[in-house]
Amino acid sequence: MALRDFTGDLSALALNTATLGHNLAGYGAGWSVEQVIDACAERGFGGLVFWRREIGMRAQAIGKRVRASGMRVVGLCRTPYITGPGAPVTLDEARESVDMAAALGADVLTIVTGGTEIGTKGVEESQKLLAERVAILAEHAAKCGVHLALEPLNPMFGGNRTCLFTVAEAIRICDEVGAYNVGVAVDVYHVWWDTTLSETLTAGGPHRILGYHLCDWLADTTDMLLDRGMMGDGVADLKKIRRAVEGAGYEGACEVEVFSAGNWWQRDPAEVLDTIVERFRTQC
Ligand code: ZN
Repeated sequence: MALRDFTGDLSALALNTATLGHNLAGYGAGWSVEQVIDACAERGFGGLVFWRREIGMRAQAIGKRVRASGMRVVGLCRTPYITGPGAPVTLDEARESVDMAAALGADVLTIVTGGTEIGTKGVEESQKLLAERVAILAEHAAKCGVHLALEPLNPMFGGNRTCLFTVAEAIRICDEVGAYNVGVAVDVYHVWWDTTLSETLTAGGPHRILGYHLCDWLADTTDMLLDRGMMGDGVADLKKIRRAVEGAGYEGACEVEVFSAGNWWQRDPAEVLDTIVERFRTQC
């Protein structure tokens, strides 16, 4: 199967603003949302993915500005945790994040599930609760025209961040929920080691893949959260992973999401964006 050709076409390229340090206070160069939109539009990016903390009460205006620049709002990160120690007691805040995604005109709202539910051990109990809560949220999201993407995380994030570790588990939860607007986000950082990825995605079907996140796994990574590599700098087989995703029928955005406190967040955002464009054309 031939992969989509990105050498001259950047319409599938999306920036997750975390790559400029925007998901955490005190990181990055402090560019405004408007500066980021303009810089990405200038370079021919197809879309943007924001974090809730950047949006505040300006969801509609920001969405409008992205579209006026010829791009799409590919996604919004993310719901609050809905299981585990960090999860709010009710789903109210999660519902509000759905409303924000709708106001922004975002294609997808990402769900990082949260960890093992307090008072339980292991992950099965938490996954059951997860399916119940996602089903409730999916109903509200459907009314708002929002799709929900469950993002499985690398197993080292178990405990306090996730109860979902593989794409296969995420697709199983989707099947249990049974809603048309719930699928999975496939992030290179979390799946690069998974040799069953291609068959799992193909069995799940194209309608289940709602996002594809790009970065790289550094062989000598120094921090599991904030030391992601730029595409091409690590050991993930990026072409093979894209072949698995596109082979299963995915034709959507490729979202660059590089959390990198010690390296890329220290650099001039213009240099980071230029590097992304070059790596997207040649490495992905
Ligand atoms: Zn991701």
